[in-house]
Amino acid sequence: MSRLTISVVAPMYDERAVLDQFAARLRPVLDGLGEPYEVIAVDDGSRDATVARLLQLRADWPNLRVLSLRRNVGHQAALSAGLHAASGDWVVSIDADLQDPPSVIAEMLAAARSRGVDVVYGVRADRRSDSVFKRGTASLYYRLMRRLAGPWVGDQAGDFRLMSRAVVDVLNDLPEQRPVYRLVVPSLGFAAAEVPYTRAPRAAGETKYPLGKMIRLTLDSITGFSAAPLRIATWLGMISFLVCLALIVGGFAAWAAGGTVPGWTSLYIAVLLLGGIQLICLGLLGEYIGRIYAATQNRPPYLVAFDTSTDNGFDTGDDGLELRRSPATSHPPPADCRRQPARQAEV
Ligand code: UDP
Ligand code: MG
Repeated sequence: MSRLTISVVAPMYDERAVLDQFAARLRPVLDGLGEPYEVIAVDDGSRDATVARLLQLRADWPNLRVLSLRRNVGHQAALSAGLHAASGDWVVSIDADLQDPPSVIAEMLAAARSRGVDVVYGVRADRRSDSVFKRGTASLYYRLMRRLAGPWVGDQAGDFRLMSRAVVDVLNDLPEQRPVYRLVVPSLGFAAAEVPYTRAPRAAGETKYPLGKMIRLTLDSITGFSAAPLRIATWLGMISFLVCLALIVGGFAAWAAGGTVPGWTSLYIAVLLLGGIQLICLGLLGEYIGRIYAATQNRPPYLVAFDTSTDNGFDTGDDGLELRRSPATSHPPPADCRRQPARQAEV
C-alpha cells in the first residue's frame, strides 16, 4: 500500500457531454506521471447522465472516484466536498470542461517540487476563447477584489491550482460556510508559484455559470473579505447631510431676501433620493446579516449521497472519506459504491 501522491478534484454539474473527452485527455497525463493518483469527480447534483457515465468510466479506470452530492450546491461547495475527500500529498482542482488543459498539471507539479512552494496557480494568460462579456466581467471582478481584499489576490487565477497537503488541511479546517477558494488560498500566504496557460474554449456543453451564479460568487467574494460596502452607507449619509446643510443655508438666504422657495419638486426629489439611499444601505447590511444568519444555522454546505472511493489498492488515508457534518446516507447507493460510514450530524 502506498500513499496517494496526487488527487485531482473536478466538480461537475451536468457535464455528460464533455465527460469522455475529459477522461481521455486527463488520464494519459496522470498515468504519465508514474505516481499513485486519484481523480475525484464531484457530481454536483447533476440532472443528466453524468453519474451513470462516470460509473461506467470507472469500470476500466480504477483511479476514478465518484463522489456524488445530493443536490446542486454550486461550484465552490462541490470543490469543498472534493477537497475534504482528497487524500493525496498534492491536490489539484480543475474544471471538467477542459478549459483548463490537463497537461498543465504536470508543469504545476514540477514547478511545486523544483521551487519548493505549496501552491501553484494556473494563470489565464490568454482568454481570447472566452466571450467579451466573460472577459470583461472577470477583469472587473479581479480588479475589484484586489482593491477590496488585498493586493495578494492573483490576477486571472481561477480555480485551476495545485496545493500541498498542508494547504488543503488548513482549508479543510476553516469554519467558513462558503469559502471562495480563489481568494482564501492566496490569503493564507503560503509560498506560491504561477504557471501561465491558454484558456481553451469549453470542449462541449454549455456554461454552468449563468449570470445569477456569477453575481452570487461576487457577493460571496466581497462580503467574505471586506466590510467596505458597509462604509458606503456612512459616506452616503455624510454626503446627504452636507447637501442638506447647504439647502438649509440656501433656504434661509432666500427667505431673508424675500424670495419664495418653490417647494414640491425639490421636496419629493429629496424624499425619493433619501429613501433610495436608505434602501441601498439596508440591502448592503442585509447581505452581511444574511451570511451571519446562515453561519449561525451551521447547516452542512453539502451532503454526500455516495462515494465510490478509489479501488486501486492505494491507501486513501484514514481521513480520506471523512465527511463534513454529513449524516449517514438514507438512500442505497449504486451497487458498486462503498457506503459512507454512518455519522451523526454535529450540532
Ligand atoms: N460547476 C459545478 N456546479 C455548479 C456550476 C458549475 O460543479 O453549480 C462546475 C462545472 O461543471 C465545471 C466548473 O464548475 O466543471 C466550472 O463551470 P463552467 O465551466 O460552466 O464555468 P465557466 O468556465 O463558464 O465560468
Ligand atoms: Mg468553463
